[in-house]
Amino acid sequence: MPVDDLRATVNGLMGRAKDDLAELVAFRSVADPKQYPPEECENAARWVVDAFAETGLRDVAMSPTPDGSMAVHGHAPAPDGAPTVLLYCHYDVQPPLGESLWTSPIWKLTERDGRWYGRGAADCKGNIVMHLTALRALRERHGGFPCGVKLICEGSEEQGTGGLEEFVPLNADLLRADAILVVDTGNFAVGVPTLTTTLRGMTSVDITLTALDSAMHSGMFGGPAPDPVVALIQLLASLYDEHGNTTVDGLDATQRWTGVEYPAEQFRADANVLDGVKPMGDGSVADLLWARPSATVLGIDVPPVIGSSSAVHAAAAARISLRLPPGVTGKQAQDALVAHLESRVPWGMRCEVRRVAVGDPFVGSLEGPAFEALKSALEEAFARPLTTEGQGGSIPLCNVLAETYPDAEIMLLGVEEPRCLIHAPNESVDPSEIEHIALAEALFLERYPNGQSPS
Ligand SMILES: [Zn+2]
Repeated sequence: MPVDDLRATVNGLMGRAKDDLAELVAFRSVADPKQYPPEECENAARWVVDAFAETGLRDVAMSPTPDGSMAVHGHAPAPDGAPTVLLYCHYDVQPPLGESLWTSPIWKLTERDGRWYGRGAADCKGNIVMHLTALRALRERHGGFPCGVKLICEGSEEQGTGGLEEFVPLNADLLRADAILVVDTGNFAVGVPTLTTTLRGMTSVDITLTALDSAMHSGMFGGPAPDPVVALIQLLASLYDEHGNTTVDGLDATQRWTGVEYPAEQFRADANVLDGVKPMGDGSVADLLWARPSATVLGIDVPPVIGSSSAVHAAAAARISLRLPPGVTGKQAQDALVAHLESRVPWGMRCEVRRVAVGDPFVGSLEGPAFEALKSALEEAFARPLTTEGQGGSIPLCNVLAETYPDAEIMLLGVEEPRCLIHAPNESVDPSEIEHIALAEALFLERYPNGQSPS
């Protein structure tokens, strides 16, 4: 079908999308019964069931997940030989986080300067109505769907309680698909079609250095007395070179990011860097954020300044975190960090390293029939070339999906561009992003079957 027809169809559905989003935003669906009544989440889930059933998906229902939240799922069988796509979104939202800072009612969709405001307008209810709009457009044009469609709409994403992460492997066949669209991110900027192709992994360790049986007077013993605070400072400094690049033995810190550039000035503003203070590291912002490991000292246990005494201390400790690019697992990086630290302990001090956390980086599909179809769909919908960005936070579900469906192409996109201020007060969505992503998703669902030999 000519793209202009589909574009017009999607455009004609935007009034309905706004009405739907207004209904959805009105549910105070924070998945924490200590903050909001659980009926708010139940009612939102029921709304999602009804809305997707009306698009023509079958067996749309909600199932409890191990954390007690309800996940909504449904499907439309694949036409002969066509592949199946799983569409992800979530109906729970962040709490208001500063009620007095909202300039319009938190739970009432409000239009201002061409944007639609309200909690969840973008994250992730804007993506729910985007899916609905894409499916409605296809149904209007074709009377059905050109490929198999499955839906999973989660009810506790913002809580980090992992209900869906446990649900997926237990219900692998229910959600099995050839391609998975994780629709809970956004474009680099309004109008710039962007796939989030990597998520940083992380690891952290605690290190404790001990040298004396007790703190000793610094006048009487300072000098030759082995000082764990000095040793800790030297150890921590060994994690960086003089330019501020992270230098952990065995971890490559030279990779380049090949997608979108993150302008240095924009980064300074986003990161609240003070005037005159220089960024760390030798690469571009995107290299340092998305392509290389970065170490951060999260905490140090030494006596606080106020109340400190004239003593060489007996012990000192720190928690060190590493954020990781694709190409290394959380475990490999943790092993490298532990070896780096243990091999450098000065003056034979006792050293105890405790391993705290690991999470693997995630890499989305960057080739394959679904990627190619989605790329061309996004480029046509936005009339611009596709770009890619990484994301610093982790989405543990992505690794679960990759492990459960190793052959599926997984891609991350959505309506949550930076101006949406997701999780902050005055969250909003740009309706043109809903419209263009919906058009791209509909085009993708049309084109993907043609480029793919079914599995
Ligand atoms: Zn979200």
